[in-house]
Amino acid sequence: MYTVAQLIGGVWGAGGEGGELVVHDPADGTPVTRAPVATADEVAKAVEAARDAAAGWAATAPAERAAALHRAADAVEAAADELARATTAEMGKPLDDARGGVAAGVGTLRQYAELAPVRGGRTLHGGHSALDFMAPEPRGVVAAITPWNDPVAVSCGLLGAALVTGNVVLHKPSERSPATGWLLARALDSALPAGVLSLLTGGGEVGAALAGQDGLDVVAHVGSTATGRSIAAAGARSGAKVLRENGGSDPLLVDADVDPVWAAEQAALGCFANAGQICVAVERVYVHRDVAGDFVDALVARAEALTVGAGADPDTQLGPLVDRRHRDHVHGQVAAAVAQGARVRTGGTLPDGPGAFYPATVVEGCRHEMALVREETFGPVAPVVVVDSFDEGLRCAADSPYGLAATVLTGSMSHAQRAWRELPVGTVKVNSVFGGAPGGAAQPRRGSGQGFGYGPELLDEFSTVKVVHLEAPGGGHW
Ligand code: NAD
Repeated sequence: MYTVAQLIGGVWGAGGEGGELVVHDPADGTPVTRAPVATADEVAKAVEAARDAAAGWAATAPAERAAALHRAADAVEAAADELARATTAEMGKPLDDARGGVAAGVGTLRQYAELAPVRGGRTLHGGHSALDFMAPEPRGVVAAITPWNDPVAVSCGLLGAALVTGNVVLHKPSERSPATGWLLARALDSALPAGVLSLLTGGGEVGAALAGQDGLDVVAHVGSTATGRSIAAAGARSGAKVLRENGGSDPLLVDADVDPVWAAEQAALGCFANAGQICVAVERVYVHRDVAGDFVDALVARAEALTVGAGADPDTQLGPLVDRRHRDHVHGQVAAAVAQGARVRTGGTLPDGPGAFYPATVVEGCRHEMALVREETFGPVAPVVVVDSFDEGLRCAADSPYGLAATVLTGSMSHAQRAWRELPVGTVKVNSVFGGAPGGAAQPRRGSGQGFGYGPELLDEFSTVKVVHLEAPGGGHW
């Protein structure tokens, strides 16, 4: 059982007057974590303490901050096994996936440690003895509010970029993965001056109290669209810059000219990896009528071949969902689609037994208007809509309240070109559902968020630029 402590004003174990939350292992329902719930007063005190620490960290030489981040990456690497096990115990993903998330986080920390100190701005020579230059500066105090689905990788990105550019950070990990957040904060804090990083734990109410504080310069949120919008409203009131990486309903288009068995492999990976709990999971499939029958048969076979079990079991390919509350949401969408005429080809039933397991599910006969297709499901479900042309598939794929990413499987270069030009999303993938280059970044659109949440561009999001115009006195020479 993990017993989580908060980190406020450089003091571990501070606060905790707001009671306690308990996280249960989604594989068997046993309690795994106890974490304090921060009160509004503790949140306010943490922000005040962070403000006090901001000037010193901002004045630290960029190379020194980068060296600290390298040491922090070493500490995260040393704790990798513990972090991966905590991730699996709290949110259920297979241990190898959890290890991959930690490795990705370490890689991001190291990349930011290398890139941050070599950034600069433009210089302009406006006149013989005049010079303009741009100096990057930290924004100040950053609140990072993160989700549970890939807790180490996502948090390392936000925290690493904010810290190395000279900001102090208050981290509020998800109430579904507080021990993972605590272990990460312990590793990072071991390499940083006291007070530069704070950790607050608790649920959405703690996130809301944090996002609503005056005295923050940036609120970075990775999580659901509804939460992101309420944080954006809080930022509009307080004046904090808001970065949002939010939900999606990513489409997969299967063109008439592709091998349906290969397309089904891609769909299975996109729909069922991490039990569908990935921001860029495939959430809806538009398949051309010519290949639809073979495609669905092969997808059903793939779904039924997955080994289901606890994430800690090395054979497991499909772990449980994060908890039963989330399982009810997933199953509710499937049941509603069935009530509207869709047909479950495999899965779609709540299993008996402990935990929050949900089977890999293929639903055919879906229509574009169904909530299962239009809304984010975030579960191992493949809703299949048959289309009569590539045009129809492209139109449906583009018609969404979200704009995160999309994948097109096609042998036609002109269809691939149309897809990337016409789809209003941040990322278009052609012939591979995952696998973008490391260090990649994208700007989500519409309900999926605003601003870069990853990649080198995130260093700019956490920085501001001071423009300096220098001239010699009296228009003469220096
Ligand atoms: P969530 O928004 O409910 O929770 C995320 C964080 O926000 C948690 O720390 C939570 O406590 C906090 N929070 C909840 N309500 C809040 C409020 N009113 N004010 C301030 N903070 C609040 O999201 P989730 O369910 O934990 O995560 C799943 C969602 O995250 C999915 O929609 C998924 O697509 C999205 N996600 C997006 C990306 C991306 O990069 N676009 C990456 C991972 C996950």
